[in-house]
Amino acid sequence: MKPFFAYVIFCLLFLGLISPSPAQQQTPQQAQPLKQEVPPISAQSVKGNIYQIKGGMGANTGFFIGEKEVLAIDAKMTEDSAKQMIAEIKKLTPHPFSYIILTHSDGDHVNGLVGFPQGTNIISHEKTRAHMSKAFQSPQERAYLPNITFSERLSIYLGGVPRGTRIDLLYFGPAHTDGDAVVYFPAEKVAFIGDLIFIDRDMLIHRSKNGGSFGLVKVLKGILNLDAEIFVHGHGDLATKKDIQNLMQSVEEKQIRIQALVKEGKTLGQVQKIFNIEDRGMRRMSLVEVVYLELTEKK
Ligand SMILES: [Zn+2]
Repeated sequence: MKPFFAYVIFCLLFLGLISPSPAQQQTPQQAQPLKQEVPPISAQSVKGNIYQIKGGMGANTGFFIGEKEVLAIDAKMTEDSAKQMIAEIKKLTPHPFSYIILTHSDGDHVNGLVGFPQGTNIISHEKTRAHMSKAFQSPQERAYLPNITFSERLSIYLGGVPRGTRIDLLYFGPAHTDGDAVVYFPAEKVAFIGDLIFIDRDMLIHRSKNGGSFGLVKVLKGILNLDAEIFVHGHGDLATKKDIQNLMQSVEEKQIRIQALVKEGKTLGQVQKIFNIEDRGMRRMSLVEVVYLELTEKK
């Protein structure tokens, strides 16, 4: 691939204009030519032994260093980036991985799993496993389907009970997809929330994975009720409760405005025009389109 095109594709990926999902996944081999254009991987402390990893191909990831083991959150988009993520973690601890938790099934969060040691416990919401099972077709990929799933809530005690660190996996309902897990560290007041928020860019909701904007508002309320102060998400810097409140408010305002336009009998095209939004197709629908479709479906 020519460097310019690789750069353009990388920028589109970064902006989320191409939203890699397992259904249209990119194999690690195909991603190799993009290597030079990818920002370097770096680990930053979030709080205590909790870290965030930025750079590489795919969404931000995270990890927690326990007394004897490491827990990773999400797996990057390519084998190469996952291996760089692992190398970065190895600079800080010799401990092995005991768990990888997946926040949801999008390719930029899960396609790098193949770069992790086989046999590591992989945990996700049951719906996330179902989406991944459709997308992961090769025997190599299928070896990385989650081997532990949960539906409402799951607690992990790293280092044993009662002195171990408790990590809660929480499910508040469909929002970005129907399998979004919140990874909550109650002692540190930190939560990893995957793609349940997008700051400074249009909120992405996958209707094809049963996500929805009204569900999102409910989920954001659930997240705001947590005793947490720092929120790590897939595509941006650390966020605060205020950021989440602002997003929730803007989604609700959009819903109210669009509801009024629907009542006036406006078509989707007219509503998009009012919001200055062009049709982006099925793969990355605007929030306005998602809300319009939800409102007109309910009738
Ligand atoms: Zn996502």
